Amino acid sequence: MALNPDDPLFGAGIDTLAVRAGQSRSAEDEHTEAMYLTSSYVFASAAEAAARFSGEQPGNVYSRYTNPTVRMFEQRIAAMEGAEQAVATASGMSAILSLAMAHLKSGDHVLCSRDVFGTTTNLFAKHLSKFGVDTSFVPLAGLDAWAGAVRTNTRFLFVETPSNPLAGIADIAALADIAHRHGALLVVDNCFCTPALQKPLALGADIIIHSATKYLDGQGRCLGGVVLGKAEHMADVHAFLRTAGPTMSPFNAWVFLKGLETLRLRMDAHSANAQQLAEWLGGHRAVERVFYAGLPGHPGHAIARRQQRGFGGVLSFTVRGGRDAAWRVIDSARILSLTANLGDVKSTIVHPATTTHGRLSEAEREQAGITQNLIRVSVGLEDIADIQADLARGLDSL
Ligand SMILES: *Cc1c(COP(=O)(O)O)cnc(C)c1O
Repeated sequence: MALNPDDPLFGAGIDTLAVRAGQSRSAEDEHTEAMYLTSSYVFASAAEAAARFSGEQPGNVYSRYTNPTVRMFEQRIAAMEGAEQAVATASGMSAILSLAMAHLKSGDHVLCSRDVFGTTTNLFAKHLSKFGVDTSFVPLAGLDAWAGAVRTNTRFLFVETPSNPLAGIADIAALADIAHRHGALLVVDNCFCTPALQKPLALGADIIIHSATKYLDGQGRCLGGVVLGKAEHMADVHAFLRTAGPTMSPFNAWVFLKGLETLRLRMDAHSANAQQLAEWLGGHRAVERVFYAGLPGHPGHAIARRQQRGFGGVLSFTVRGGRDAAWRVIDSARILSLTANLGDVKSTIVHPATTTHGRLSEAEREQAGITQNLIRVSVGLEDIADIQADLARGLDSL
């Protein structure tokens, strides 16, 4: 899937790739990407069917593992991430599961950031542990802790940067060094930045995970995921998908193809709105602390500046007071959507301690810094003045 030098898109910029990469045309010569809503394909002869099934002849067989619209999405996101190959999946979680099932076996060890998506923590700690895969959790930014916790059987270092909801930043190049010194692979969940703002493979990571549900769609419509990396690392992921079937639907792939076309423009607009909102919140008397890597006082600011093109659209902040104060701000909002989803053109607001992180114990939440007065906002593309006014209604009343 990597572009070769005689491809007209070889060396093209990310905006060109976002609009053009991966498109193939049917006999109808359609201008836009075609949606192939079909579960299977017909063969010209019994011999052709046999050759397709055995893999001797390339081509579509069955949409559990080959579909032209899904392939267009895989090729486009692979070109944008600079990856040799991509495997699309039904959701972000099934992308992580497919990677784990393809690469891990009983007796293996995974080193995972403590600050990953809550369901990712559950997948490793509660489900994969039943099959003899042991996972240790380390602080996101503590390079010494990562290096000290690597074992001889460690297969993956798994990290999400920036993290959710506190916008913690990990140094991808430094973690890649630690992984490679010990014969492990660095896996980066690039959901919050997308290739528009951060290219983990160019920084030394081996594998990228996305929840396409978030910014790749960008308009809150479909669930999807993708695993990306070298062809040698993707072969077993595709083999698992073929067997187990956590497949992306062609309809969703078509929506994601359209989402990718505006990804860079949206990410820049999300980042600009979030930066303004972070600065405004920082000056509000009812706000205690703002967590956003675009603020110079943020502990990850220097690394984020170096490894990201922009700081992204998600921020969180604590208000003076406890849970009641936080709930008052949330309940006073009339425009922002109260929902756990993020990465949408619509701004969303949520109280992590009682929703996304509600299943953690109070002690676990404390350790993760998810306090009762914390609010997370995924800053959308509404006018920034209206987003501020919507939050000011509650904040001014505290
Ligand atoms: C949402 C999310 C996931 C899981 O993706 P789904 O599409 O909901 O399965 C994984 N990682 C991060 C960072 C996420 O925000």
